[in-house]
Amino acid sequence: MFTSLRDRSVIVTGASKGIGRGIARRFGEAGCQVLVVARTVASADTVAQEIVGAGGRAVAFAGDVSQLPDMRAMADKAVTVFGGIDILCANAGIFPASPLESMTEADFDRVMDINLKGTFFAVSACLGAMKQRRRGRIILTSSITGPITGYTGWSHYGASKAGQLGFMRTAAIELAPHGITVNAVLPGNIATEGLADMGPDYISSMEGAVPMKRLGSVSDVANAALFFASDEAAYITGQSLAIDGGQVLPESPAAMMS
Ligand code: NAP
Repeated sequence: MFTSLRDRSVIVTGASKGIGRGIARRFGEAGCQVLVVARTVASADTVAQEIVGAGGRAVAFAGDVSQLPDMRAMADKAVTVFGGIDILCANAGIFPASPLESMTEADFDRVMDINLKGTFFAVSACLGAMKQRRRGRIILTSSITGPITGYTGWSHYGASKAGQLGFMRTAAIELAPHGITVNAVLPGNIATEGLADMGPDYISSMEGAVPMKRLGSVSDVANAALFFASDEAAYITGQSLAIDGGQVLPESPAAMMS
């Protein structure tokens, strides 16, 4: 269906579990060389070894997206071991709940540092290598929460995820002349380790709120990321795609009764 992505070099941040792990494995299956990034080399290496075990090529790298030197070292590593950078999936993110009344400055800053500033650091660190190739694909993992919806306890998180889209739109304009596209996937409620931490009540209420009546899988998100990375998506930039089983569609609970 799509031109092969075989041998393309891809960096996936936050790839030790959840959506990032699903994206890394999907790109590995597609024949890409994958740099699997998480905060510890042990957790990243587990996923790198899964990819290698399935016949793919992957290398682990330990880096914190909120630290610019780590992101620069990450980009250098990809250039050293893969010869360049074709695709960046800036996926690492956290979603700790904190009601507005008790939210501290430190709570707010931590979410912004990882989710929003981390996006900026990862992207800016990879730009030099992408510009050299005169092509590139940047795929951000945002969320429906913030850009489209709100949820109690996540005002800082929603701001960070909406902020990623504001960042994306200007980055897309600036990078278009270099053949680099910047797009975003907006997951709804996806079955991941991070979501499991929200507890069974949260999960069953979300299943009830999705017209498809199930949580999404990490593959659902990874397939969308793969499309944005393809040659066929060359003329798409600055766009966002919700992968949410229709969760944002119902006008009211009554819209779900059928
Ligand atoms: P998850 O299961 O908690 O996994 C988070 C990943 O991010 C882990 O690999 C973690 O690795 C890594 N990470 C966390 N902080 C990091 C940092 N400072 N530097 C580098 N890596 C870091 O989360 P998820 O559910 O897959 O979510 C992934 C992304 O999707 C996030 O951006 C999230 O906002 C977004 N999202 C998720 C959902 C959902 O339903 N799950 C919905 C909408 C959006 P280590 O802990 O090993 O470092």
